[in-house]
Amino acid sequence: MVTFGESTQLRRLLSDVDLALSNLDNGTYGLCETCHDPIEPERLMADPLIRYCLDHLTPVEQDALQRDLDLAAKIQIGLLPRPELFFRKWAIARHYQAAGPVSGDYCDLVTTEDGSVYFMLGDVSGKGVAAAMLMTQLHAMLRVLIPLELSLKEMVARVSRLFCESSLPTHYATLVCGKGSDSGEVEVCNAGHLPILWVSNGDLRMLEATGLPIGVFSNQEYSASKLRMASGDLLFLYTDGLSEAHNRVGDEYGMERLSRLAGNSKSLMPQALINACLEDLVAFQGEAPKTDDLTMMAIRWDGL
Ligand SMILES: [Zn+2]
Repeated sequence: MVTFGESTQLRRLLSDVDLALSNLDNGTYGLCETCHDPIEPERLMADPLIRYCLDHLTPVEQDALQRDLDLAAKIQIGLLPRPELFFRKWAIARHYQAAGPVSGDYCDLVTTEDGSVYFMLGDVSGKGVAAAMLMTQLHAMLRVLIPLELSLKEMVARVSRLFCESSLPTHYATLVCGKGSDSGEVEVCNAGHLPILWVSNGDLRMLEATGLPIGVFSNQEYSASKLRMASGDLLFLYTDGLSEAHNRVGDEYGMERLSRLAGNSKSLMPQALINACLEDLVAFQGEAPKTDDLTMMAIRWDGL
């Protein structure tokens, strides 16, 4: 039984299909009815009946799109860990800032009953909604895999395989996945991500990537390294929205400036280090537009 509402909808759909078919016949299919330029291919692929490019949506369509984006942003924010976490001997802070409505950066924290804390930070290739969708996929995969108590390198290898199988071949992600234990021992796997900074007793060390980004090859293997934190040591993780930020004249913020700032930060608490980075970034960037997602995480262990 078709209701009145359904039959109206059906009639509208049929007339939209008719219009698309006649546009196919006269060679105007896929062109915006307002500006006659091609409609964005990925939008046309998602809905073959759309008639306007993004610049020429009707006000109703614009509102609907904005509502979609607002909701997506809300969902993404809901997936983030708290800005600060104090767990046993660990103090962790994070900063997460999307360049647009949603971000392709990934950041998460998971604590376990045996007193371990998992910290994750990553960057999906590309930007915007597509990258954000893949970020939520990473989030879900690691949340499912962590309780299985696999080794870190096995977990990252599985994430890479799953990511490879389920995303477009052009998409990949860099990922740092670490596990800190109550005793201050940290195991970390850096899959193609920027170096992790380790501030220890006034020394600064860099933990470079030990493998390719995830999602490049489905059979990629990974290795993890172990380190022992001294009381008061800090690990600092970030995305290229920090290290590769540009100012107005095109200079890059850069690793040197970041290392100097982090190296001078002994005895800082995680939130204070993040605030110092943000202040320094603002001082460097001035009014230059922010074009990339920015994520930072600072992790401190106090053994005493
Ligand atoms: Zn148009």
